[in-house]
Amino acid sequence: MNTNDLLKKDCFTTEEIVYLLGANGNDKTLLFESAARCQAENVQNKVYLRGLIEFTNCCSKNCLYCGIRSNNRQVKRYTMTDKEIMDAVRFAWESRYGSVVLQSGELISDGFTRRVEKLLRKIERLSDGKLRVTLSCGEQSYDTYRRWFENGASRYLLRIESSNPELYKKLHPDNQHHRFETRMKCLEYLKKAGYQVGTGVMIGLPFQTMEDLAHDLLFMKQIDVDMVGMGPYLEHLDTPLYACRHQLLSKENRFQLALKMIAVLRLLMKDINIAATTALQAIDPMGREKALKVGANIIMPNITPGRYQDFYTLYENMPCTAEDNEDYMASLEALITLAGHETAYGEWGDSEHYRRRDKGQGTRKKDLTESVRPVSVWLSTKKIKGATVNGKQ
Ligand code: SAH
Ligand code: SF4
Repeated sequence: MNTNDLLKKDCFTTEEIVYLLGANGNDKTLLFESAARCQAENVQNKVYLRGLIEFTNCCSKNCLYCGIRSNNRQVKRYTMTDKEIMDAVRFAWESRYGSVVLQSGELISDGFTRRVEKLLRKIERLSDGKLRVTLSCGEQSYDTYRRWFENGASRYLLRIESSNPELYKKLHPDNQHHRFETRMKCLEYLKKAGYQVGTGVMIGLPFQTMEDLAHDLLFMKQIDVDMVGMGPYLEHLDTPLYACRHQLLSKENRFQLALKMIAVLRLLMKDINIAATTALQAIDPMGREKALKVGANIIMPNITPGRYQDFYTLYENMPCTAEDNEDYMASLEALITLAGHETAYGEWGDSEHYRRRDKGQGTRKKDLTESVRPVSVWLSTKKIKGATVNGKQ
């Protein structure tokens, strides 16, 4: 294959993506330059900020890769109070972040649903509705997603983790609480409820092939997401998947693969929001800056109070938070400037993709049912508009 010719195309087959993910030397440089050009043409050079608040590490699930899985008794559990959460929100508001992300383990109860609803109303009051709120609280019922949307959440992050159902099975306990089909259904619910939907995968997992990763990117295109957050898988000592650590690529190779995934995704989905995730920074202190140079346009500064940071350990060596660090904003801005971008203070930063999809009509409280393409199409046909899986039409 000729990399130059390939990079002129608008969409890719599985084989072509696998080829690009394997690019090294000059070919890798061409891929990264092409993604940077595509970024400049389609999402300008702005970087939007989302203040990340990890408000509880309590979780009812047992994902085999995750350090805060419920069976891990080594981790001290915490739940931030409303006041602590609102202090962090105020910090984001005063720092002109434009958005906050409330993330947690997966908890399913009326009490939890109501608590999040109440927090959403408080955030709306604090900022007079000017702060966008993203939720990332796992799988919930359609009714819960709808209630949160109606109370002010406008974006939701739910990573599919892997779009290969067989690989998904290997990463999760085999029981009704960890079903690939449920995850897919939830992505469908989120679109139906009106959210800007974000998904993502872990990169460099045990058992994962290059074809799996290529399919992950085609899956994101197929379900037509507005935002993506994906980063390298990082092993955690107190998890069952740690036993597979000998099969892993080196951290540097996982990191490089993650950058190539971001670059190819930018070419495939030109106008979506792509996050430079914390897991990149866990491998390379300049990881997020490098991601901003090859297609990413979102940074999520962690604004969880420092005293909780040791307990929200999805993986080891999670980078530290913004709190207690007076120079944090200055260093963040320097990082963004160094990557050749501009920090978009006080802007929501909805993805261009969403804006075009929405055509400026505003989706809040509007029934989107008719415009939703069922994600189950992925399972039944594995056929992507403008692209093919396994090269077959
Ligand atoms: N409980 C929610 C949100 C918090 S977990 C959920 O699962 O959706 C957020 C993300 O952390 C997960 O989607 C997963 O992709 C990522 N994660 C968990 N363990 C990880 C690990 N060991 N390495 C890298 N990412 C991990
Ligand atoms: Fe819980 Fe999310 Fe971790 Fe799974 S990935 S154990 S749902 S926090």
